[in-house]
Amino acid sequence: MIHMTNVRIRYPDFDLAIDDLTLESGMTVVVGRNGSGKTTFLELLSTGIEPDSGEIRYGGMTVKEHLPLIRRNIGFAPSEMELYEDMTPRGFLQYMAGLKGLGDTSETGEWLKKLHIEDISRKPIGRLSQGQKQSVAVAQACLGRPLALLLDEPSSHLDSLERKYLMALLTQYAADRLVVVVTHELGEWDQRADRILWLDSGRVCFHGTQKEWTAGLPLNVYSGIIAAEQLAGIEERNLVRCSIREGKAHIRMIGELPPPGFKQERPSLEDAYFIRRLSQPFVSH
Ligand code: ADP
Repeated sequence: MIHMTNVRIRYPDFDLAIDDLTLESGMTVVVGRNGSGKTTFLELLSTGIEPDSGEIRYGGMTVKEHLPLIRRNIGFAPSEMELYEDMTPRGFLQYMAGLKGLGDTSETGEWLKKLHIEDISRKPIGRLSQGQKQSVAVAQACLGRPLALLLDEPSSHLDSLERKYLMALLTQYAADRLVVVVTHELGEWDQRADRILWLDSGRVCFHGTQKEWTAGLPLNVYSGIIAAEQLAGIEERNLVRCSIREGKAHIRMIGELPPPGFKQERPSLEDAYFIRRLSQPFVSH
C-alpha cells in the first residue's frame, strides 16, 4: 500500500497537489489529458523526484529512512525510456538485474519470454522497433517481481495482439501486487482495472472502482443509426464513435436525451471518461 499525504510539487507553470490518497494492491489505471500531471505522479511514486512538501509512505516506510528498501520494491518503466542502444535486451536485463542486486539471472529469461522478446534478445537495442523497446523497458521493471510496478503508457507502441498479452500479464501480476499504469487507452482496461485514478490540472478528480467510475454520471450513452447526411445535426463533442456504412452513420454518443430511435447503453470506462471530461466545470489553479 502506498499512501500520499499533503503532497505538493511546484513547477513554474504547474503544480500537483494530492491531499490524501491511498493506492492499494491491484490494478490502478491513471488517466487524464496531456499535462495533467500523470508522469509527474508516477515519478513521485517511483522516488525519482521528491515532493516539495508532504509525505509518501510505502507500507509504512518513508523515503527519508528506507530509500534503498523502497527502491528495491519498485519497478518503474517511464514512457520512452532511454535504453542502452548498443546492448542487447538480454544483456541489458542482466545488467539491470545486477544493479537491482538480483543474483538469479534466470529471471531475465523468464521476462524475455513473457514479454515476447526472446527471439530478438540478442539484437542490439538500437535496431529494435519502438514496440520491442517498450517491451524491454517493461521487462526491466518486472525484474525481481517488485511489490509495486509503475508503468507509463507501456503499450502505446504495441500492436493490438501484443497489447492484449500485456494486459493479461499485468492483470495477473496485479493479483497480489500493486500495479499503476498510465494510459490514454482507457477502453482497453474494461473489466481489468480494479481502480481508476483521474488526474486533471494536478488534482485527483476521481479515485475509485470501475463500478463507481461508470455510476451516477450526469449524461447518458446512446447508440443508433441515422442517415449519413443527418450526422451534421449531432454535435461533434457528443460523438463517442461513428462509422459510416452504406450511407448510414452508426453512432455511439453521449447526451441528456436520446435522439429519436436511439437506445440507451451501459457506459463503458471510456464513455465515462468522455462524460466526466465534458461535464467538468472549468478548473483553474
Ligand atoms: P502528463 O504526464 O499528464 O502529460 P506531466 O506530469 O508530464 O503531465 O506534466 C505536467 C506539467 O508539469 C506539464 O505542464 C509539464 O510541462 C510540467 N513539468 C513536468 N516536469 C517538469 C519539470 N521538471 N520542470 C518544470 N515543469 C515540469
